Amino acid sequence: MSATDHIRIFDTTLRDGEQSPGCSMSPQQKAVMARALAELGVDIIETGFPASSLSDREAAALIARELRETTLCVLSRCLPGDIEASARVLQAAAKPRLHVFLSTSPLHREHKLRMSKDEVLETTARNVAYARSFVDDVEFSTEDGTRTEEDFLAEVIGAAIAAGATTVNVPDTLGYTTPAEMRGLFQRLIAGVPGAEGVVFSAHCHNDLGMAVANSLAAIEGGARQVECTINGIGERAGNCAMEELVMALKVRGAYFEADTRIDTRRLVPTSQLLSRLVGMPVQRNKAIVGANAFAHESGIHQHGMLRHRGTYEIMNPEDVGWPSSQMVLGRHSGRAAVAHRLRALGHPLENEALDRVFADFKSLCETQRVVDDVDLQRLMQGDRVGDGYRLASMTVSDRGQRASAQIELSDPDGLRIIESALGDGPVDALFAALAAATDVDLKLESYQVHSVGIGNDARGEANLSVRCDEAEYQGTGTSKDIIEASALAWLDIANRVLRTRQPQRMSAMA
Ligand SMILES: [Zn+2]
Repeated sequence: MSATDHIRIFDTTLRDGEQSPGCSMSPQQKAVMARALAELGVDIIETGFPASSLSDREAAALIARELRETTLCVLSRCLPGDIEASARVLQAAAKPRLHVFLSTSPLHREHKLRMSKDEVLETTARNVAYARSFVDDVEFSTEDGTRTEEDFLAEVIGAAIAAGATTVNVPDTLGYTTPAEMRGLFQRLIAGVPGAEGVVFSAHCHNDLGMAVANSLAAIEGGARQVECTINGIGERAGNCAMEELVMALKVRGAYFEADTRIDTRRLVPTSQLLSRLVGMPVQRNKAIVGANAFAHESGIHQHGMLRHRGTYEIMNPEDVGWPSSQMVLGRHSGRAAVAHRLRALGHPLENEALDRVFADFKSLCETQRVVDDVDLQRLMQGDRVGDGYRLASMTVSDRGQRASAQIELSDPDGLRIIESALGDGPVDALFAALAAATDVDLKLESYQVHSVGIGNDARGEANLSVRCDEAEYQGTGTSKDIIEASALAWLDIANRVLRTRQPQRMSAMA
Protein backbone atom coordinates (compact mmCIF):
# COMPACT_ATOMS: atom_id res chain seq x y z
CA MET A 1 0.00 0.00 0.00
CA SER A 2 1.33 3.47 -0.87
CA ALA A 3 1.57 6.17 1.79
CA THR A 4 -1.92 7.50 1.04
CA ASP A 5 -4.17 5.49 -1.22
CA HIS A 6 -6.92 7.28 -3.09
CA ILE A 7 -10.40 6.19 -2.02
CA ARG A 8 -12.97 6.83 -4.76
CA ILE A 9 -16.10 8.47 -3.47
CA PHE A 10 -19.15 7.11 -5.28
CA ASP A 11 -22.12 9.28 -4.40
CA THR A 12 -25.56 7.69 -4.63
CA THR A 13 -27.59 10.53 -3.06
CA LEU A 14 -29.49 10.93 -6.32
CA ARG A 15 -30.28 7.19 -6.67
CA ASP A 16 -30.28 5.23 -3.40
CA GLY A 17 -30.88 8.40 -1.37
CA GLU A 18 -33.56 9.81 -3.60
CA GLN A 19 -35.61 6.62 -3.63
CA SER A 20 -36.14 6.74 0.15
CA PRO A 21 -39.49 8.05 1.44
CA GLY A 22 -39.82 11.83 1.46
CA CYS A 23 -36.61 12.44 -0.52
CA SER A 24 -37.85 12.55 -4.11
CA MET A 25 -36.41 15.27 -6.33
CA SER A 26 -37.42 16.66 -9.70
CA PRO A 27 -34.90 16.34 -12.57
CA GLN A 28 -34.05 20.05 -12.16
CA GLN A 29 -33.41 19.63 -8.43
CA LYS A 30 -31.23 16.61 -9.17
CA ALA A 31 -29.22 18.71 -11.62
CA VAL A 32 -28.70 21.37 -8.91
CA MET A 33 -27.52 18.69 -6.49
CA ALA A 34 -25.29 17.03 -9.10
CA ARG A 35 -23.49 20.33 -9.73
CA ALA A 36 -22.87 20.69 -6.00
CA LEU A 37 -21.56 17.10 -5.81
CA ALA A 38 -19.19 17.76 -8.70
CA GLU A 39 -17.90 20.91 -6.97
CA LEU A 40 -17.50 18.89 -3.77
CA GLY A 41 -15.12 16.64 -5.69
CA VAL A 42 -16.86 13.25 -5.70
CA ASP A 43 -15.31 10.81 -8.20
CA ILE A 44 -18.51 9.11 -9.38
CA ILE A 45 -22.12 10.34 -9.23
CA GLU A 46 -24.88 7.76 -9.54
CA THR A 47 -27.63 9.84 -11.12
CA GLY A 48 -30.51 7.37 -11.16
CA PHE A 49 -32.15 4.14 -12.27
CA PRO A 50 -33.30 4.95 -15.82
CA ALA A 51 -35.57 1.92 -16.27
CA SER A 52 -37.55 2.86 -13.16
CA SER A 53 -39.06 6.18 -14.22
CA LEU A 54 -39.24 8.86 -16.84
CA SER A 55 -38.07 11.36 -14.22
CA ASP A 56 -34.86 9.34 -13.62
CA ARG A 57 -34.21 9.20 -17.37
CA GLU A 58 -34.70 12.96 -17.71
CA ALA A 59 -32.46 13.72 -14.74
CA ALA A 60 -29.67 11.37 -15.87
CA ALA A 61 -29.69 12.76 -19.41
CA LEU A 62 -29.79 16.37 -18.16
CA ILE A 63 -26.80 15.80 -15.86
CA ALA A 64 -24.90 13.83 -18.54
CA ARG A 65 -25.08 16.79 -20.91
CA GLU A 66 -23.76 19.17 -18.28
CA LEU A 67 -21.09 17.56 -16.09
CA ARG A 68 -18.01 16.66 -18.12
CA GLU A 69 -15.36 16.07 -15.44
CA THR A 70 -17.09 13.59 -13.12
CA THR A 71 -17.82 9.93 -13.92
CA LEU A 72 -21.59 9.56 -14.23
CA CYS A 73 -23.17 6.24 -13.41
CA VAL A 74 -26.69 4.81 -13.72
CA LEU A 75 -28.16 1.62 -12.29
CA SER A 76 -29.66 -1.33 -14.19
CA ARG A 77 -31.03 -4.71 -13.22
CA CYS A 78 -29.57 -7.69 -15.10
CA LEU A 79 -32.07 -7.18 -17.91
CA PRO A 80 -31.11 -6.20 -21.47
CA GLY A 81 -33.92 -3.59 -21.55
CA ASP A 82 -32.59 -1.92 -18.38
CA ILE A 83 -29.04 -1.85 -19.72
CA GLU A 84 -30.19 -0.40 -23.05
CA ALA A 85 -32.20 2.33 -21.28
CA SER A 86 -29.14 3.14 -19.16
CA ALA A 87 -26.82 3.22 -22.17
CA ARG A 88 -29.19 5.61 -23.95
CA VAL A 89 -29.26 8.21 -21.16
CA LEU A 90 -25.47 8.05 -20.87
CA GLN A 91 -24.90 8.60 -24.59
CA ALA A 92 -24.12 12.28 -24.00
CA ALA A 93 -21.87 11.62 -20.99
CA ALA A 94 -18.14 12.34 -21.20
CA LYS A 95 -17.29 9.68 -18.59
CA PRO A 96 -20.08 7.08 -18.54
CA ARG A 97 -20.29 4.09 -16.20
CA LEU A 98 -22.92 1.34 -16.34
CA HIS A 99 -23.79 -0.26 -13.01
CA VAL A 100 -25.60 -3.62 -13.09
CA PHE A 101 -26.69 -5.58 -10.06
CA LEU A 102 -28.00 -9.04 -9.21
CA SER A 103 -28.91 -10.62 -5.88
CA THR A 104 -26.63 -13.40 -4.74
CA SER A 105 -27.85 -14.43 -1.27
CA PRO A 106 -29.81 -17.67 -0.71
CA LEU A 107 -32.94 -15.78 0.45
CA HIS A 108 -32.91 -13.49 -2.57
CA ARG A 109 -32.10 -16.31 -5.02
CA GLU A 110 -34.99 -18.40 -3.76
CA HIS A 111 -37.68 -15.81 -3.06
CA LYS A 112 -36.88 -12.80 -5.24
CA LEU A 113 -35.11 -14.18 -8.31
CA ARG A 114 -36.21 -17.85 -8.25
CA MET A 115 -32.82 -18.68 -9.75
CA SER A 116 -30.33 -21.48 -9.07
CA LYS A 117 -26.66 -20.69 -8.37
CA ASP A 118 -25.77 -21.63 -11.96
CA GLU A 119 -28.44 -19.29 -13.30
CA VAL A 120 -27.09 -16.43 -11.17
CA LEU A 121 -23.56 -17.04 -12.49
CA GLU A 122 -24.73 -17.22 -16.10
CA THR A 123 -26.99 -14.13 -15.79
CA THR A 124 -24.14 -12.15 -14.22
CA ALA A 125 -21.65 -13.01 -16.96
CA ARG A 126 -24.11 -12.39 -19.81
CA ASN A 127 -25.29 -8.99 -18.56
CA VAL A 128 -21.87 -7.67 -17.54
CA ALA A 129 -20.62 -8.57 -21.01
CA TYR A 130 -23.65 -6.85 -22.57
CA ALA A 131 -22.98 -3.68 -20.51
CA ARG A 132 -19.33 -3.79 -21.64
CA SER A 133 -20.52 -3.77 -25.27
CA PHE A 134 -21.71 -0.18 -24.61
CA VAL A 135 -19.01 1.27 -22.32
CA ASP A 136 -15.58 0.35 -20.93
CA ASP A 137 -16.44 1.31 -17.35
CA VAL A 138 -18.79 -1.32 -15.86
CA GLU A 139 -19.58 -1.85 -12.19
CA PHE A 140 -21.20 -5.03 -10.93
CA SER A 141 -22.98 -5.29 -7.56
CA THR A 142 -23.82 -8.46 -5.68
CA GLU A 143 -27.05 -7.40 -3.95
CA ASP A 144 -27.28 -8.78 -0.38
CA GLY A 145 -23.65 -9.83 -0.91
CA THR A 146 -22.76 -9.92 2.79
CA ARG A 147 -25.46 -12.56 3.45
CA THR A 148 -24.24 -14.76 0.58
CA GLU A 149 -22.25 -18.01 1.02
CA GLU A 150 -18.67 -16.72 0.74
CA ASP A 151 -17.48 -19.32 -1.76
CA PHE A 152 -20.42 -18.59 -4.04
CA LEU A 153 -19.96 -14.82 -3.66
CA ALA A 154 -16.35 -15.26 -4.79
CA GLU A 155 -17.51 -17.33 -7.76
CA VAL A 156 -20.02 -14.65 -8.87
CA ILE A 157 -17.41 -11.91 -8.53
CA GLY A 158 -14.95 -14.02 -10.54
CA ALA A 159 -17.59 -14.42 -13.27
CA ALA A 160 -18.26 -10.66 -13.32
CA ILE A 161 -14.53 -9.87 -13.60
CA ALA A 162 -14.05 -12.45 -16.36
CA ALA A 163 -17.00 -10.87 -18.24
CA GLY A 164 -15.40 -7.43 -18.07
CA ALA A 165 -16.51 -5.71 -14.84
CA THR A 166 -13.99 -3.01 -13.84
CA THR A 167 -15.46 -2.26 -10.39
CA VAL A 168 -16.93 -4.90 -8.08
CA ASN A 169 -19.28 -3.69 -5.37
CA VAL A 170 -20.24 -5.84 -2.39
CA PRO A 171 -23.29 -4.30 -0.74
CA ASP A 172 -24.33 -4.84 2.86
CA THR A 173 -27.87 -4.31 1.61
CA LEU A 174 -29.60 -4.95 4.93
CA GLY A 175 -27.06 -3.24 7.19
CA TYR A 176 -26.36 -6.60 8.87
CA THR A 177 -22.58 -6.99 8.85
CA THR A 178 -20.08 -6.01 11.55
CA PRO A 179 -16.80 -4.15 10.87
CA ALA A 180 -14.56 -7.15 11.65
CA GLU A 181 -16.58 -9.37 9.30
CA MET A 182 -16.46 -6.72 6.58
CA ARG A 183 -12.68 -6.28 6.82
CA GLY A 184 -12.10 -10.05 6.65
CA LEU A 185 -14.51 -10.53 3.76
CA PHE A 186 -12.78 -7.90 1.59
CA GLN A 187 -9.33 -9.21 2.48
CA ARG A 188 -10.26 -12.77 1.48
CA LEU A 189 -12.12 -11.80 -1.71
CA ILE A 190 -9.29 -9.56 -2.92
CA ALA A 191 -6.69 -12.23 -2.13
CA GLY A 192 -8.68 -15.13 -3.54
CA VAL A 193 -10.79 -14.14 -6.56
CA PRO A 194 -9.00 -14.57 -9.91
CA GLY A 195 -8.48 -11.19 -11.58
CA ALA A 196 -9.18 -9.23 -8.37
CA GLU A 197 -5.91 -7.30 -8.70
CA GLY A 198 -7.14 -5.69 -11.93
CA VAL A 199 -10.41 -4.23 -10.59
CA VAL A 200 -11.53 -1.79 -7.91
CA PHE A 201 -13.42 -3.29 -4.97
CA SER A 202 -16.22 -1.19 -3.53
CA ALA A 203 -18.40 -1.20 -0.38
CA HIS A 204 -22.04 -0.13 -0.18
CA CYS A 205 -23.23 -0.17 3.43
CA HIS A 206 -26.63 0.49 4.95
CA ASN A 207 -27.13 1.84 8.43
CA ASP A 208 -29.79 -0.42 9.97
CA LEU A 209 -27.59 -1.14 13.00
CA GLY A 210 -25.81 2.22 12.90
CA MET A 211 -22.64 0.66 11.45
CA ALA A 212 -22.66 1.88 7.84
CA VAL A 213 -19.69 4.24 8.26
CA ALA A 214 -17.77 1.80 10.47
CA ASN A 215 -18.37 -1.04 7.99
CA SER A 216 -17.27 1.14 5.06
CA LEU A 217 -14.05 2.08 6.88
CA ALA A 218 -13.47 -1.60 7.68
CA ALA A 219 -13.93 -2.44 3.98
CA ILE A 220 -11.21 0.13 3.20
CA GLU A 221 -8.94 -1.56 5.72
CA GLY A 222 -9.71 -4.82 3.91
CA GLY A 223 -8.67 -3.32 0.58
CA ALA A 224 -11.78 -1.59 -0.85
CA ARG A 225 -10.81 1.50 -2.88
CA GLN A 226 -14.32 2.80 -3.58
CA VAL A 227 -17.05 3.62 -1.07
CA GLU A 228 -20.66 4.24 -1.98
CA CYS A 229 -22.29 6.83 0.20
CA THR A 230 -24.82 9.66 0.37
CA ILE A 231 -24.87 13.21 1.71
CA ASN A 232 -26.38 13.28 5.23
CA GLY A 233 -26.54 9.47 5.01
CA ILE A 234 -29.97 9.58 3.36
CA GLY A 235 -31.25 6.35 1.81
CA GLU A 236 -33.57 3.40 2.21
CA ARG A 237 -34.75 2.78 5.81
CA ALA A 238 -31.96 3.95 8.20
CA GLY A 239 -29.98 5.23 5.22
CA ASN A 240 -26.56 4.71 3.65
CA CYS A 241 -23.01 5.42 4.75
CA ALA A 242 -22.85 9.20 5.41
CA MET A 243 -20.25 10.71 3.09
CA GLU A 244 -19.30 13.57 5.41
CA GLU A 245 -18.53 11.17 8.27
CA LEU A 246 -16.52 8.75 6.13
CA VAL A 247 -14.54 11.54 4.46
CA MET A 248 -13.67 13.26 7.73
CA ALA A 249 -12.74 9.95 9.41
CA LEU A 250 -10.24 9.34 6.59
CA LYS A 251 -8.97 12.92 6.84
CA VAL A 252 -8.67 13.23 10.62
CA ARG A 253 -7.26 9.67 10.95
CA GLY A 254 -5.30 9.73 7.68
CA ALA A 255 -2.15 8.36 9.34
CA TYR A 256 -4.13 5.38 10.62
CA PHE A 257 -6.02 4.53 7.39
CA GLU A 258 -3.20 5.55 5.01
CA ALA A 259 -5.92 6.63 2.63
CA ASP A 260 -7.64 9.85 1.60
CA THR A 261 -10.27 11.20 -0.77
CA ARG A 262 -10.39 14.09 -3.25
CA ILE A 263 -13.31 15.73 -1.45
CA ASP A 264 -13.06 19.48 -0.80
CA THR A 265 -14.09 19.15 2.84
CA ARG A 266 -14.90 22.86 3.12
CA ARG A 267 -17.91 22.20 0.92
CA LEU A 268 -19.36 19.43 3.14
CA VAL A 269 -21.63 21.64 5.26
CA PRO A 270 -22.95 23.77 2.37
CA THR A 271 -23.67 20.60 0.34
CA SER A 272 -25.40 18.96 3.32
CA GLN A 273 -27.56 22.06 3.80
CA LEU A 274 -28.35 22.28 0.11
CA LEU A 275 -29.63 18.68 0.08
CA SER A 276 -31.57 19.23 3.28
CA ARG A 277 -33.31 22.21 1.70
CA LEU A 278 -33.93 20.50 -1.64
CA VAL A 279 -35.65 17.46 -0.11
CA GLY A 280 -37.01 19.27 2.95
CA MET A 281 -35.40 16.83 5.39
CA PRO A 282 -33.69 18.52 8.33
CA VAL A 283 -30.34 17.24 9.61
CA GLN A 284 -30.51 16.04 13.22
CA ARG A 285 -28.81 18.59 15.46
CA ASN A 286 -26.27 16.22 16.98
CA LYS A 287 -25.33 14.63 13.61
CA ALA A 288 -21.54 14.31 13.26
CA ILE A 289 -19.83 16.94 11.07
CA VAL A 290 -22.94 18.61 9.61
CA GLY A 291 -25.36 18.81 12.58
CA ALA A 292 -25.99 22.24 14.11
CA ASN A 293 -24.47 21.10 17.41
CA ALA A 294 -21.49 19.26 15.94
CA PHE A 295 -19.11 22.05 16.99
CA ALA A 296 -21.14 23.73 19.74
CA HIS A 297 -19.54 23.83 23.16
CA GLU A 298 -21.94 24.76 25.92
CA SER A 299 -20.51 23.22 29.05
CA GLY A 300 -18.37 25.59 31.11
CA ILE A 301 -15.45 23.16 31.34
CA HIS A 302 -15.37 22.69 27.57
CA GLN A 303 -15.57 26.42 26.85
CA HIS A 304 -12.74 27.10 29.27
CA GLY A 305 -10.57 24.46 27.63
CA MET A 306 -11.46 25.68 24.15
CA LEU A 307 -10.45 29.25 24.99
CA ARG A 308 -7.01 28.06 26.15
CA HIS A 309 -6.35 25.60 23.37
CA ARG A 310 -8.75 24.53 20.68
CA GLY A 311 -7.35 21.01 20.55
CA THR A 312 -8.54 20.24 24.08
CA TYR A 313 -12.06 19.46 22.92
CA GLU A 314 -11.95 19.65 19.11
CA ILE A 315 -10.40 17.22 16.63
CA MET A 316 -11.47 19.25 13.57
CA ASN A 317 -11.82 22.94 12.78
CA PRO A 318 -15.41 23.87 11.98
CA GLU A 319 -14.12 25.96 9.06
CA ASP A 320 -12.45 22.87 7.55
CA VAL A 321 -15.82 21.20 7.03
CA GLY A 322 -17.50 24.38 5.83
CA TRP A 323 -19.09 25.94 8.89
CA PRO A 324 -18.91 29.72 8.57
CA SER A 325 -16.83 31.29 11.33
CA SER A 326 -19.73 33.60 12.13
CA GLN A 327 -23.33 33.41 11.06
CA MET A 328 -24.27 36.49 9.07
CA VAL A 329 -27.87 36.96 8.07
CA LEU A 330 -28.90 38.86 4.98
CA GLY A 331 -32.34 40.26 4.23
CA ARG A 332 -34.31 42.69 2.12
CA HIS A 333 -32.31 45.68 3.41
CA SER A 334 -28.96 44.14 2.50
CA GLY A 335 -27.12 45.76 -0.36
CA ARG A 336 -25.18 44.43 -3.31
CA ALA A 337 -21.84 44.79 -1.48
CA ALA A 338 -22.99 42.73 1.51
CA VAL A 339 -24.27 39.97 -0.76
CA ALA A 340 -21.04 40.01 -2.80
CA HIS A 341 -19.00 39.84 0.43
CA ARG A 342 -20.93 36.82 1.73
CA LEU A 343 -20.74 35.06 -1.66
CA ARG A 344 -16.97 35.57 -1.72
CA ALA A 345 -16.71 34.01 1.75
CA LEU A 346 -18.68 31.02 0.44
CA GLY A 347 -16.19 30.59 -2.39
CA HIS A 348 -18.03 32.47 -5.15
CA PRO A 349 -16.18 35.68 -6.00
CA LEU A 350 -18.67 37.31 -8.39
CA GLU A 351 -18.49 40.57 -10.29
CA ASN A 352 -20.44 42.57 -12.85
CA GLU A 353 -23.24 40.72 -14.70
CA ALA A 354 -22.81 37.46 -12.76
CA LEU A 355 -23.24 39.37 -9.51
CA ASP A 356 -26.16 41.34 -10.97
CA ARG A 357 -27.99 38.14 -11.82
CA VAL A 358 -27.53 36.57 -8.38
CA PHE A 359 -28.36 39.86 -6.66
CA ALA A 360 -31.61 40.14 -8.66
CA ASP A 361 -32.52 36.58 -7.59
CA PHE A 362 -31.58 37.49 -4.03
CA LYS A 363 -33.95 40.49 -4.09
CA SER A 364 -36.67 38.34 -5.52
CA LEU A 365 -36.15 35.76 -2.76
CA CYS A 366 -36.36 38.53 -0.13
CA GLU A 367 -39.93 39.21 -1.25
CA THR A 368 -41.01 35.88 0.20
CA GLN A 369 -38.34 35.24 2.81
CA ARG A 370 -37.43 37.63 5.62
CA VAL A 371 -33.93 36.27 5.96
CA VAL A 372 -31.60 34.76 3.38
CA ASP A 373 -28.94 32.46 4.76
CA ASP A 374 -25.89 30.69 3.32
CA VAL A 375 -27.95 27.77 2.06
CA ASP A 376 -30.24 30.10 0.15
CA LEU A 377 -27.20 31.77 -1.42
CA GLN A 378 -25.79 28.37 -2.39
CA ARG A 379 -29.10 27.53 -4.02
CA LEU A 380 -29.04 30.78 -5.98
CA MET A 381 -25.47 30.03 -7.05
CA GLN A 382 -26.50 26.55 -8.20
CA GLY A 383 -29.18 28.14 -10.37
CA ASP A 384 -32.16 26.85 -8.41
CA ARG A 385 -35.16 28.81 -9.63
CA VAL A 386 -36.60 30.94 -6.85
CA GLY A 387 -39.57 32.27 -8.75
CA ASP A 388 -41.18 28.87 -9.35
CA GLY A 389 -44.43 27.96 -7.67
CA TYR A 390 -46.63 29.72 -5.13
CA ARG A 391 -45.13 32.49 -3.01
CA LEU A 392 -46.42 34.00 0.19
CA ALA A 393 -47.17 37.72 -0.15
CA SER A 394 -48.85 38.38 3.19
CA MET A 395 -50.77 36.68 5.97
CA THR A 396 -52.90 37.58 8.97
CA VAL A 397 -53.87 35.05 11.60
CA SER A 398 -56.16 35.75 14.56
CA ASP A 399 -57.04 33.46 17.40
CA ARG A 400 -59.89 35.16 19.24
CA GLY A 401 -63.12 33.54 20.30
CA GLN A 402 -64.14 29.97 19.48
CA ARG A 403 -62.25 29.44 16.23
CA ALA A 404 -59.05 30.84 14.76
CA SER A 405 -59.08 32.48 11.35
CA ALA A 406 -56.38 33.03 8.74
CA GLN A 407 -56.24 35.23 5.69
CA ILE A 408 -53.44 34.79 3.19
CA GLU A 409 -52.33 36.43 -0.02
CA LEU A 410 -50.23 34.39 -2.45
CA SER A 411 -48.81 34.94 -5.88
CA ASP A 412 -49.36 31.91 -8.08
CA PRO A 413 -46.79 30.44 -10.52
CA ASP A 414 -47.91 32.97 -13.16
CA GLY A 415 -47.54 35.87 -10.74
CA LEU A 416 -51.29 36.38 -10.20
CA ARG A 417 -52.55 37.31 -6.72
CA ILE A 418 -54.78 34.92 -4.80
CA ILE A 419 -56.51 35.87 -1.54
CA GLU A 420 -58.06 33.15 0.61
CA SER A 421 -59.29 32.84 4.16
CA ALA A 422 -60.32 29.94 6.37
CA LEU A 423 -61.29 29.02 9.91
CA GLY A 424 -59.64 26.30 11.97
CA ASP A 425 -59.18 24.75 15.41
CA GLY A 426 -56.11 26.89 15.97
CA PRO A 427 -54.04 29.43 14.06
CA VAL A 428 -51.92 26.85 12.26
CA ASP A 429 -54.94 24.73 11.36
CA ALA A 430 -56.70 27.82 9.92
CA LEU A 431 -53.55 28.84 8.05
CA PHE A 432 -53.08 25.41 6.43
CA ALA A 433 -56.78 25.32 5.46
CA ALA A 434 -56.43 28.70 3.72
CA LEU A 435 -53.26 27.55 1.91
CA ALA A 436 -54.98 24.34 0.75
CA ALA A 437 -57.93 26.33 -0.57
CA ALA A 438 -55.64 28.77 -2.39
CA THR A 439 -53.38 26.19 -4.04
CA ASP A 440 -55.78 23.27 -4.49
CA VAL A 441 -53.12 20.98 -3.00
CA ASP A 442 -54.34 18.61 -0.29
CA LEU A 443 -51.59 17.75 2.22
CA LYS A 444 -52.29 15.21 4.98
CA LEU A 445 -50.22 16.39 7.93
CA GLU A 446 -48.24 13.62 9.66
CA SER A 447 -45.93 15.64 11.86
CA TYR A 448 -45.32 19.30 12.60
CA GLN A 449 -42.37 20.64 14.55
CA VAL A 450 -41.05 24.11 15.23
CA HIS A 451 -37.74 25.03 16.82
CA SER A 452 -35.47 28.01 16.95
CA VAL A 453 -32.25 28.34 14.97
CA GLY A 454 -29.51 30.92 15.48
CA ILE A 455 -28.91 32.98 18.56
CA GLY A 456 -29.62 36.50 19.82
CA ASN A 457 -30.89 38.96 17.21
CA ASP A 458 -30.42 36.34 14.51
CA ALA A 459 -32.76 33.83 16.18
CA ARG A 460 -35.39 32.54 13.81
CA GLY A 461 -38.13 29.93 13.94
CA GLU A 462 -37.82 26.91 11.72
CA ALA A 463 -40.88 24.80 10.94
CA ASN A 464 -40.57 21.21 9.70
CA LEU A 465 -43.58 19.42 8.24
CA SER A 466 -44.04 15.80 7.18
CA VAL A 467 -47.09 15.15 5.05
CA ARG A 468 -48.63 12.63 2.70
CA CYS A 469 -49.89 13.63 -0.72
CA ASP A 470 -50.51 11.63 -3.89
CA GLU A 471 -49.63 8.48 -1.88
CA ALA A 472 -46.08 9.77 -1.30
CA GLU A 473 -44.33 11.29 1.70
CA TYR A 474 -42.96 14.80 1.58
CA GLN A 475 -41.07 16.94 4.04
CA GLY A 476 -40.76 20.70 4.02
CA THR A 477 -38.91 23.41 5.89
CA GLY A 478 -39.63 27.09 6.39
CA THR A 479 -37.65 29.71 8.27
CA SER A 480 -38.80 33.10 9.52
CA LYS A 481 -38.63 35.40 12.52
CA ASP A 482 -42.28 34.41 13.06
CA ILE A 483 -43.07 30.70 13.59
CA ILE A 484 -46.55 30.94 12.04
CA GLU A 485 -45.02 32.44 8.92
CA ALA A 486 -42.28 29.76 9.00
CA SER A 487 -45.09 27.19 9.06
CA ALA A 488 -46.73 28.77 6.00
CA LEU A 489 -43.39 28.74 4.14
CA ALA A 490 -42.83 25.07 5.04
CA TRP A 491 -46.32 24.23 3.77
CA LEU A 492 -45.70 26.08 0.49
CA ASP A 493 -42.25 24.46 0.19
CA ILE A 494 -44.02 21.08 0.07
CA ALA A 495 -46.94 22.20 -2.11
CA ASN A 496 -44.53 23.59 -4.71
CA ARG A 497 -42.53 20.35 -4.60
CA VAL A 498 -45.71 18.28 -5.05
CA LEU A 499 -46.65 20.37 -8.07
CA ARG A 500 -43.14 20.07 -9.56
CA THR A 501 -42.71 16.35 -9.00
CA ARG A 502 -46.15 15.00 -9.91
CA GLN A 503 -44.96 12.18 -12.14
CA PRO A 504 -45.59 8.45 -12.82
CA GLN A 505 -45.01 6.09 -9.89
CA ARG A 506 -41.53 4.61 -9.82
CA MET A 507 -40.72 0.98 -9.25
CA SER A 508 -38.44 -0.04 -6.41
CA ALA A 509 -34.71 -0.40 -7.02
CA MET A 510 -31.95 -2.16 -5.14
CA ALA A 511 -31.77 -1.27 -1.46
ZN1 LIG B 1 -28.39 0.67 -1.12
